[in-house]
Amino acid sequence: MMGGGGSSKKEKSQEKAKAKKETAKWFGAQTVQAPSTCENCGRSLQATIAFHPRAHICHIVKKSKQQGCPSVATHPLNRWFGCKRCHDGYDIMMDEKEYDEVIQMPVWPKIVDRFRQVPPHIKESELRRVPQVLLDAVKKTSKKK
Ligand SMILES: [Zn+2]
Repeated sequence: MMGGGGSSKKEKSQEKAKAKKETAKWFGAQTVQAPSTCENCGRSLQATIAFHPRAHICHIVKKSKQQGCPSVATHPLNRWFGCKRCHDGYDIMMDEKEYDEVIQMPVWPKIVDRFRQVPPHIKESELRRVPQVLLDAVKKTSKKK
């Protein structure tokens, strides 16, 4: 094998620690901005936050390294605020590609509006992981202005 470049194990773990720190910072900032009620169903977020302090912060596109877009994991607009039920529902609909259902969610227009500013920040290699329904919605609504 040629060259000894690439990132060492140590560099990788430093990178990981940095990403973790960034994510924690992002969740902290979102917690401050969060409303008291679910943006989708209007229920109080209290029980959701009691269940888990981050459960009401829903990524529009996933942050998972394997299936998501980690390049925008901490983009300020890559999120909406929902109760546990709506959050889980959204994630499942996106995973199962139940797009005709996801676009019926009351919060959907808000999601599209926010997400519109996210794609330029997504790494090219991750773009194919963005749910098609989001790309389509952004295309459609960017015409009217
Ligand atoms: Zn809800």
